[in-house]
Amino acid sequence: DVPYDAPTEVKRTICSHCSVGCGIYAEVQNGVWTGQEPAFDHPFNAGGHCAKGAALREHGHGEKRLKYPMKLEGGKWKKLSWEQAIEEVGQKALDIRQESGPDSVFFMGSAKFSNEQAYMYRKLAAMWGTNNVDHSARICHSTTVAGVANTWGYGAQTNSFNDIRKSKAMMFIGSNPCEAHPVSMQHILEGKERGAKIIVVDPRFTRTAAKADEFVHIRPGTDIPYIYGLLWHIFENGWEDQTFIDQRVYGMERIREEVKKWNPQEVENVAGVPEKQMRRVAKMLAETKPGTVVWCMGGTQHHVGNANTRSYCILQLALGNMGVEGGGTNIFRGHDNVQGATDFGLLFDTLPGYYGLKTGSWKHWCNVWDLDYEWVKNRFDQAQHLGQDPMTSTGIPCSRWHDGVLEDKSKIAQKDNIRMSFFWGQSVNTETRGREVREALNKMDTVVVVDPFPTMAGVMHERTDGVYLLPAATQFETYGSVSASNRSLQWRTQVIEPLFESKADHIIMYKLAKKWGIDAEFCKHIKVNGDEPLIEDMTREFNKGMWTVGYTGQSPERLKMHQENWGTFDIESLEAPGGPAKGETYGLPWPCWGTADMKHPGTQILYRTGREVKDGGGNFRARYGVEHEGNNILAEGSYSKGSEIQDGYPEFTADMLKQLGWWDDLTAEEKVHAEGKNWKTDISGGIQRVAIKHGCIPYGNAKARCIVWNFPDDIP
Ligand code: SF4
Repeated sequence: DVPYDAPTEVKRTICSHCSVGCGIYAEVQNGVWTGQEPAFDHPFNAGGHCAKGAALREHGHGEKRLKYPMKLEGGKWKKLSWEQAIEEVGQKALDIRQESGPDSVFFMGSAKFSNEQAYMYRKLAAMWGTNNVDHSARICHSTTVAGVANTWGYGAQTNSFNDIRKSKAMMFIGSNPCEAHPVSMQHILEGKERGAKIIVVDPRFTRTAAKADEFVHIRPGTDIPYIYGLLWHIFENGWEDQTFIDQRVYGMERIREEVKKWNPQEVENVAGVPEKQMRRVAKMLAETKPGTVVWCMGGTQHHVGNANTRSYCILQLALGNMGVEGGGTNIFRGHDNVQGATDFGLLFDTLPGYYGLKTGSWKHWCNVWDLDYEWVKNRFDQAQHLGQDPMTSTGIPCSRWHDGVLEDKSKIAQKDNIRMSFFWGQSVNTETRGREVREALNKMDTVVVVDPFPTMAGVMHERTDGVYLLPAATQFETYGSVSASNRSLQWRTQVIEPLFESKADHIIMYKLAKKWGIDAEFCKHIKVNGDEPLIEDMTREFNKGMWTVGYTGQSPERLKMHQENWGTFDIESLEAPGGPAKGETYGLPWPCWGTADMKHPGTQILYRTGREVKDGGGNFRARYGVEHEGNNILAEGSYSKGSEIQDGYPEFTADMLKQLGWWDDLTAEEKVHAEGKNWKTDISGGIQRVAIKHGCIPYGNAKARCIVWNFPDDIP
């Protein structure tokens, strides 16, 4: 109903569909979002756009949006007012807390939160008294964070999408940017036009592979043999950067020992890559520098995902590719703010800024929040006091939901019994152990979905009662900062008011805090207008505490100024040669330190080796002990599309096995398992046996479970 000639207001905002962080011009007429264009002058996308980003407006206006709060009662969905919904959900949580303690509630969070909302969600869980928090990083790059942080300090992309233009060689392993991060391809292809070599390492021939000089067709789960096989050639021929190693790297001698067993024959046997190609790729990487390594979930979602990421780092250290333009490890994150949500502590074992759960960390944040440490401490159960005994064994959500939800209702008051879970901007369909998650959803007292859309968490159960759907606003119906994969923060402007009866996440959080009687502490130094806490005050508050990763210099004013002037930043260096942000890097990528005058320029490239170590130049540890463990690609913390996961391994269903013609070769016990009647029995050995019989390739030792792949001789 917008008149065609209504004046158009154009708002600068940021795409929410991946971590590249493209700039968007949103057109608004009479308060209605009527059109959008990719921002021609944005330093990340320079007018580029992809199909996902182009659908932002339609997606936000999708027919399936949740329109008002609802609850499932007697098998029927019933409309609620917000007051009723908060009263009921909040009271249920309080009753459960009274009976079973604060750890009986799980706070599943979201990589779609803004930084401010992620920070407040972690704070809400802390003030509720639990470390039962997680989000999608658990199943994507948490292995990277651990692997990379153990090698050089920060668990993040070291360079940027734009910097890839300067690479002379690019190796993509388990990464398909052409489809997953499409606009990054404009930087990648610019590099190729300037003469860079592209190597794509993947079990599938992807669209990115179509642009490669070398496509390396490895077997799934053989990243370590492949990388160590390259290192074998590099060390054998003296192609390593010995000066760099001598000056900066600890532990490379141990790596030389580890690499010895991955001789060309062994690599060909295991990874399926012939010696000639291995030598060619190793030589290419050694002779065309600087080079970058890019990886995504194809490298991380393995039970050796952490070791995989360490092996990629070791390769870059051996080649001396760290701390330089065009080099580094460009780790492309997935969701638009998965970097920020991780940085702000939406994981069971950290507080915001990767502060752990020890007393000193809690005292640091209590100081920032201006709260008495004893008050926060008393919000927790004595049994898991503040997580001083971190719940590492129970942190993975699916395990926690499943193992923590008790069947026996007589034990309802038992501590550590998950009875209620929020699924806040994150569903369950990408978690492992789908069947167990469904059982857990069935057994919980209350399931609360907070999301713009009804997700699988709201429906993947056989319940008739105790499910709530609370409509959250989309990213474009609120505002705040988000961290792109390259560590730049961007201010995302609100485009329209929340549609239907939806509310912004931080408002819903505040309403719950009020019901729980902790609103005064939750927003002690954050202005609240009605029930709406002021987002800029949240940014200012975390600026005071995020010292470990350098989120202390990005004030709301600076971020807004960068957004208003994004056209003044250079597409290659991301620096502003002039204009109001002269000398600063776009988005003040962390670390950006909160100096007294708030003038730190941000850090586009981590560990500049041209600098002394004391001035931020890198000093690295080549973390040895990198072990290949069979070709098991799917494991705890990982996921599978199209097949059920049981015990963390992909299950061959009865139908699949029949279609393959393998059914008759299984034992009676294995058939019972395959029919899903006794999933605790591990039939991986049986699958291996049958696979061999049918000419497939099950590689591995006794630990290798049930990965079988029938490789074509030619590239598909
Ligand atoms: Fe959006 Fe990513 Fe596509 Fe850019 S590349 S338009 S951020 S989905």
